[in-house]
Amino acid sequence: MRIDVVTIFPEYLGPLDLSLIGKARASGLLDVGVHDLRTWTHDVHRTVDDSPYGGGPGMVMRPEPWGEALDALASDGGARLVVPTPAGQVFSQALAHELAAEPHLIFACGRYEGIDQRVLDHAATRMPVTEVSLGDYVLFGGEVAVLVICEAIVRLLPGVLGNADSLADESHAHGVLEAPVYTKPPEWRGRGVPDILRSGDHGRIARWRRDQALLRTAQRRPDLLAALDPGTLDKRDLAL
Ligand code: SAM
Repeated sequence: MRIDVVTIFPEYLGPLDLSLIGKARASGLLDVGVHDLRTWTHDVHRTVDDSPYGGGPGMVMRPEPWGEALDALASDGGARLVVPTPAGQVFSQALAHELAAEPHLIFACGRYEGIDQRVLDHAATRMPVTEVSLGDYVLFGGEVAVLVICEAIVRLLPGVLGNADSLADESHAHGVLEAPVYTKPPEWRGRGVPDILRSGDHGRIARWRRDQALLRTAQRRPDLLAALDPGTLDKRDLAL
């Protein structure tokens, strides 16, 4: 997969060199380019913003540098543009899977009051454009959102996780949250580990985990439980 990020703060994307994303890059599973939007400006001040038409506070990102950046980065014809914005569809594991299947993603990091709408409208005439929100709050810029989205996507790429089984039962893989997890020691500050997890009975452990996952989801995210496909529930699930 190829990921290009356009931003006025390339240093903000430094974490893309670290941890498992850095390893995926080093092993050739992932190719990342971080680009300074100001590369595509032509005035002495390297201007990327201007006052909004119609008045109002703040500044808006001018379309010209964005247009040139996208012309340069999307020339392969196979890219999908992802634009973080609080006005977008809320990011989810399902969207992470969808984006992980793309060969080439271009992220456009907005700042100020956002990017001139014509950039997105024009880009949509030549590539898929997806506006994505991290949630119902407002950040300074799109960089942190890109880090979040990239991390969720890259861990889904085949070969990135040491043990791909980690993905199978984690939260949001099947519409429920994951059961609580425990490790050694068996006793810590007066608290033990549920006996069942030390029983060696894999069938009962799997059932316990499923029960805990459903209970947790009911307590913490009843919205997820309500949205579960009834076809994915067995008799014991329904009895809970
Ligand atoms: N004026 C915009 C609005 O009200 O919708 C908010 C602009 S915000 C201050 C600047 C940039 O931060 C946005 O263009 C976007 O890139 C990013 N951003 C802010 N909140 C975000 C969120 N919840 N999800 C994704 N990106 C966000």
